[in-house]
Amino acid sequence: MEAKISAGMKRERKMDFQERVRRRNEFDAGIAYGVKKFNLLTGRDKHAEYRKKNDNQWINLETGVIDDKFAECRNCPLCGANEFETLFVKCGFPHVKCNRCNLVYVNPILNQQEYEKLWQAEDSWESILESEPQIKMQTLEARYSLDIAELCINNKDDISICDVGCGPGRLLGEAKKRGYYAFGIEPNRRSHNSLREKGIDYLGDFFPLKEEIKKKFDCIFLLNALEHMRDPMQIVLEAKKLLRPSGIIYISVPCIDALVNRIMHEKAGVFGGHSHLQFFSIGTLSVFLEKAGFKVLEYETIITEIGVIKNYLSFKDPYFGDNVDLLDFLTPELIYKNHLARNLNMVGRLV
Ligand SMILES: [Zn+2]
Repeated sequence: MEAKISAGMKRERKMDFQERVRRRNEFDAGIAYGVKKFNLLTGRDKHAEYRKKNDNQWINLETGVIDDKFAECRNCPLCGANEFETLFVKCGFPHVKCNRCNLVYVNPILNQQEYEKLWQAEDSWESILESEPQIKMQTLEARYSLDIAELCINNKDDISICDVGCGPGRLLGEAKKRGYYAFGIEPNRRSHNSLREKGIDYLGDFFPLKEEIKKKFDCIFLLNALEHMRDPMQIVLEAKKLLRPSGIIYISVPCIDALVNRIMHEKAGVFGGHSHLQFFSIGTLSVFLEKAGFKVLEYETIITEIGVIKNYLSFKDPYFGDNVDLLDFLTPELIYKNHLARNLNMVGRLV
């Protein structure tokens, strides 16, 4: 009972900028551990090796872009136009910008068959997610995301949330501790044991769902999910059906306008081509949410990548170089104030 009262009180309180800075810094691994240390502790060096070996496997060496037999061309996943300029090619995948709506997306992408093969084979990333420092950072981030969502949820009793692409249930586990009803949708079987251990209800499926979910939710989370989807609008429209009236959607995606991307372009780790298929900005994600029937309530960026940027600007390996202690004008406050951190979090309310 006590926990419930304090959670209720917390939700009534706004979080000011300084508090949001402090809380975001807590789960910013580059700040909390240092970039190199965190990447080694979580085994990202092994993942980098794996990527080096595998990321170029679809290239046609004559054309320098992915081979036709693996490729599928597509129109802009936001506005449907087919007019674009190419920003750069990485690992054979052209990253283009829509002339009509400015969305940055990969075109062509891997065809359905190759894409499914890729996801079945991929478990190099999964072991990173299971490392202890990673779990610690994700737990702090989950608590923060839940606090932000609570501020936006109208209903203050019996809150129910659904996490689409919930992985092993880091966010849902935290939600459960707060007394929420927590439900996950996750096709990856490796995560199911962990969900069961936490006593979390889930559906091991993906949109379009084969089974109907009767329950309605106050908040749907789509964390680091939409950038992977071949048709992100279809996913959001399906997720929308699970919301109660005036329910909210909480989205986190890589932000194309992040300072790290503006400086490093294709060298930034977020770009690969085979699994990150589109890159939203504040502008394009707002249009996307409004098109899907939501009103944007708030947004902010997280994960500054200051250490990565400083390394790069000092001619060091951005992700594995020793920490550089200069360029002190680059502060988390500066990055947050100007919405220049790596990920964009946006909350929308169903209208
Ligand atoms: Zn477009």
